[in-house]
Amino acid sequence: MSPKRAVVTGGAGFLGSHLCDALLAEGWCVVCVDNLLTGRRANLEHLRNEPAFEFVEKDICEPFDVGKVDYVFHFASPASPVDYSNHGIATLKVGSLGTFHALDVARKYSAKYLVSSTSECYGDPLEHPQKETYWGHVNPIGPRSVYDEAKRFTEAVTMAYRRYHNVDTRIVRIFNTYGPRLQLNDGRVVSNFMKQALRGEDLTVYGDGNQTRSFCYVSDEIDGFLRLSKSDEHLPVNIGNPNEFTILECAQLVLKVSGSKSNIRYEPLPQDDPKQRRPDITKARQLLGWEPTIDLETGLLKSLAYFKKAVAEEGAVK
Ligand code: UDP
Repeated sequence: MSPKRAVVTGGAGFLGSHLCDALLAEGWCVVCVDNLLTGRRANLEHLRNEPAFEFVEKDICEPFDVGKVDYVFHFASPASPVDYSNHGIATLKVGSLGTFHALDVARKYSAKYLVSSTSECYGDPLEHPQKETYWGHVNPIGPRSVYDEAKRFTEAVTMAYRRYHNVDTRIVRIFNTYGPRLQLNDGRVVSNFMKQALRGEDLTVYGDGNQTRSFCYVSDEIDGFLRLSKSDEHLPVNIGNPNEFTILECAQLVLKVSGSKSNIRYEPLPQDDPKQRRPDITKARQLLGWEPTIDLETGLLKSLAYFKKAVAEEGAVK
């Protein structure tokens, strides 16, 4: 029997590229489709001579067909607040048009389908921690809405294809994730703090730093995706680390792990910045037997070599 074939949209991104690696390790043939808007070839460089891997540079806002596939992993989208602010219309288009096209591929080949959604569906949540049953508290016209509403629409289209076309779908709601391949200049809190700490610059804490996030190391996150991909659960599942930190605590951990003497500088809080974020992962625990294993300090230590290299390379380019 020939090996199974999967397509990963957004496979050149941070999470998409780690997912490609994990699927290849499980024996899949993998086709990555990415328009490189925020994804990077560098994330796939190590697969250059991998016969089971194929890269197709393409914008999935146009219909696409890479031949018969058994699984569609739909991960294409700008995902950091800086990236989706810079590419607001493209974010709305990939979440809407791109999702139709990814689902059309799954439908055509009777392939299974898993889509990356986000904790942003919960907005600035009034329920804490957030369970999958919470409908969210999202500003539909604010600066984050290009991402939040695109992903909420993504979920709606996905459920519609299941109901109307019997596509075998899954939805993962991803919470803040970090690790190697996080782009140095994507503006996310871990990339910013690591970059600033390693350069000896001030760490920029927005607001008073008491807002919270719950950070999941990339290998834990990918393990959750794989488990969900093998399950039959079609309603959304939170995959994230429930250990919650204030942003100030995160800054202090980055200083500790990097050994940096940088100071902390306070800057204004961006509009609609969620005050708290923590997944309730009861469903993932019960359904998938999934549990994150890497705490924030350990994960930051595991990421340090990557960030050191990225900072050095950026310095060399200037
Ligand atoms: N943040 C910060 N300093 C930075 C970047 C981000 O204090 O240099 C804060 C941001 O305001 C938010 C949290 O860190 O409260 C997480 O931001 P990120 O952009 O990583 O992702 P979000 O969870 O907001 O989508």
